Amino acid sequence: MQDSRPSSGTEETVERVRSLLNRFDELIQEASSYYDVKTLAHRIHILSPKSANISLTPSNGKDVPLALTALIHGVEVAGLAVLVELLELVTRGSLNIEQPLGVALGNIAAAENCVRFIGRDLNRSFGREAIETAEDRRADELELLLARSERLLDLHQVKLKIDRPFWIFPYTKAGYRFARAVAPDVALITHWGKGFSQDGKCSDEWVNSVGGIGVTLELGQNGFEPAQISRGLKAVKCAMEVVAAAAKGNPVAIPGGQLAPIYTWGEIVPYPQTGLPVLDEGWHNFKLVKSGDRLGQFEGQVITAGVSGPVLFPKYPDPMADGSYAKTPPAAELIRILREIKEADLPT
Ligand SMILES: [Zn+2]
Repeated sequence: MQDSRPSSGTEETVERVRSLLNRFDELIQEASSYYDVKTLAHRIHILSPKSANISLTPSNGKDVPLALTALIHGVEVAGLAVLVELLELVTRGSLNIEQPLGVALGNIAAAENCVRFIGRDLNRSFGREAIETAEDRRADELELLLARSERLLDLHQVKLKIDRPFWIFPYTKAGYRFARAVAPDVALITHWGKGFSQDGKCSDEWVNSVGGIGVTLELGQNGFEPAQISRGLKAVKCAMEVVAAAAKGNPVAIPGGQLAPIYTWGEIVPYPQTGLPVLDEGWHNFKLVKSGDRLGQFEGQVITAGVSGPVLFPKYPDPMADGSYAKTPPAAELIRILREIKEADLPT
C-alpha cells in the first residue's frame, strides 16, 4: 500500500499505461460525436445523452447518477483498461449511455511513473484543506465530479497476491445495496465508526460525506490481468444498468440466491516501531489465520493473531536501493484480520 518507488520490470506497464491514456483521450473525443461531453478537468469528463442538457456546473445537487474512477493509485492499472474497454463499447455503439456518466482518471502522473503516488496518497487526500502536493490539487479536481455524483464506483487493485476481487467501503445502507446489486458474487468488506484514515479521506468516504453513495471495488493484484479487466467491465456495465433502472423508478434491489460473504475488521495489528520486515514470509490477502497463530516477530517477541479469519493488507517493507530498510515503519498497520458477519450484523 505504500510503494512510492518504481520497481523493476515496469517499462512494459508504463508503455501500456501510456497507450491506454492516449486511447482514453481518443475515445472521449470520438464519444463527443454521439454524446454531450463535459470536461471538468484533465481526464475528468461527464458523458450524457445529448438530450440531457447537463451544465458545466450543477444547478441543483446531484446531476450525475454514476461516476466511475480508476488510477486513484498509480500502480492499480486494471481500472484504466476497464474504462477504456467501456468507452470502446460506447463509441462502437454496442453500449448506450442512458444517464449522465462521470468517467475520471486519478493519479495520472503516478501511473506514468509506475508508482502508487508521488507526493501523498491521493486516496487519503479528499476533503483536505491543505494544498501541499499534486495529489491535493488532483483531489480538488476530482471533487468537482464527485460532489455532483449520486454514486461512485472506484476501481482499485491491491499490492500483494489475492485470489478474488472484493468490495471495500465505509458502510452505508445504500452503498451496501448498490454493491450487492452490481456484483453479488464478490466478497464485501465494510466497516463503520472511525474513518479509514485520519488525515484526508478516501474517495468513497468523501462521496458519502457529501451525500452521495461511494463504493470501491478491488479487482485483484496490480497489473493488466485479463480476467480482472473483464470482471471490472462486467461490474461497471452492471452499475450503469442499476442506475438506469433506478432513474426509471426501479429501486436498487439485492438479488436473491447465494451472496458472497460479508466481512468487517476483526483485528488490526499495528506495525512495531521499526522499518524492518516483521511479518513471516508468505502472508497474502485472504489467507486464513487462526487465533493464536504466529504472524511474525519483532526483537524476539512473537506476534500472534488475536482472532481467526482471512488476513488483509499484510505489509512487507520494500528495501531501499542499497538493500537496507528505512528506520521508520512502512505503514501504521502490519496486517488486518477479517471477521465474517451476517447482513443482520450490519448497522441499521
Ligand atoms: Zn488502491
